This record gives sequence, C-alpha cells and structure tokens, in this order.
Amino acid sequence: MQRSPIKHCRACGAPVVYRLPDDGDTKPRAVCTACQTIHYENPLNVVGTVPAWGPDGEHVLLCKRNIEPRLGKWTLPAGFMELGETTAEGALRETDEEAGAQIEMGPLFTLMNVARVGQVHLYYRARLLSDRFAPGPETQEARLFTEAEVPWDEIAFRTVRETLLHYFADRRAGRFGFHTLDID
Ligand SMILES: [Zn+2]
Repeated sequence: MQRSPIKHCRACGAPVVYRLPDDGDTKPRAVCTACQTIHYENPLNVVGTVPAWGPDGEHVLLCKRNIEPRLGKWTLPAGFMELGETTAEGALRETDEEAGAQIEMGPLFTLMNVARVGQVHLYYRARLLSDRFAPGPETQEARLFTEAEVPWDEIAFRTVRETLLHYFADRRAGRFGFHTLDID
C-alpha cells in the first residue's frame, strides 16, 4: 500500500513539484509551483487489537476481509488512526467497526515499523466480553480461532502474522510482554 505522490497543492490547487525546499531542508518535498506551500508527508499509524476469548485467552478473534487489498484473507481488527482520537480509542473503534465485538482494552502488545510504506502498526491486547459478533461492511466473517485453527497461510498482513505469533508464544510461556519489530 504505497502512498501515491501528491499532485496538487492542498492550499491553492496548483500543481506541485518534488524538489528540495529553499529553506535548507535535505529531503525532496512536494512544493507548490504557485504559492510555494511545502507539503510534508509523514508516516500513518495503523491501530488494532488482539481480542482474546476464554479463561486463558486460548481463542483469538479474526476477521475475513471484505475489501481490497487482501480480500478474503484473515486479519486482526485494525485500521488507520483518525485525527482527534488516541491510539487506544482508534483500536477500540476499529474492533467495533470491523467485528462488532465488545472488548475490554488491555496493554499495548506490538509496535511494528513498516518504513517501506511509511506506517507504524500498533496492536493492543484485549479481552472479549462476548462471543457474539456483528461484522461491519468491511468484514465477510468474524470468528474465533485457537492457535491450531489459525489459517496461517491465509493471513492478510505480515504485521498481523507477527502479532499472532507473539501472542500465542507469550501465552504458552505464561507471560505477556511488549514487542517491537521492524518489518521490511
Ligand atoms: Zn499552492
């Protein structure tokens, strides 16, 4: 999911060119050819949860994607953070929107840099309060999986796979940590 380059100025609508700004900045930026506004592009945060069910959290909720990319593949509930919300609020909102799942938020579990596409992915552990779900339009199906049942070959994103691997490894070890990872 590479971001498309900026084509038009957000201030005046004129075309932009990518060049070094005149202020000594060392990175090429999208600079407006008319009003000279410099458009800075920074990484986006993707926030989500690992919703667990059962006394020992042996089941994890996954959502089958109803949208591209990776239509039909399985993911943890997650999405782009919105302005005006905290990371935890965004993770809670995405879990509600994608799975219609009621959860109690837990601690931050994984932080993954995906520098190639300019994203930072953050997953929180969460406890499901019910095993009844109401998937939204972005989800074909929401269901619980044990570690043995997880469709490992059908997981939508590397960040989801890594987060699930850490979750089940920590669960087996009887101790949940916090994990950071840089993904190519
Ligand atoms: Zn402009």
